[in-house]
Amino acid sequence: MDNSKIGRFEGSRYYRYWVGGCRCGSGKPGREFFDARGIYCGITCDACRKDNQSRWAPGVMTDPSYAASEAVDED
Ligand SMILES: [Zn+2]
Repeated sequence: MDNSKIGRFEGSRYYRYWVGGCRCGSGKPGREFFDARGIYCGITCDACRKDNQSRWAPGVMTDPSYAASEAVDED
């Protein structure tokens, strides 16, 4: 893996964004991906997106009402 291709987060602790290549080392531009509830799931790209999504249960990426293990404060 060529680490020079891998990007990093820039910005502040409150607003950060990924700049550069994906963490998988493909050299393709990486971007943050989120599940259906907007929970941060990692960095992905065209090369590894399918692999990343397959790590999550069906529905997690598409259905906001999926069963969550942590309590959600609706207030
Ligand atoms: Zn990737």
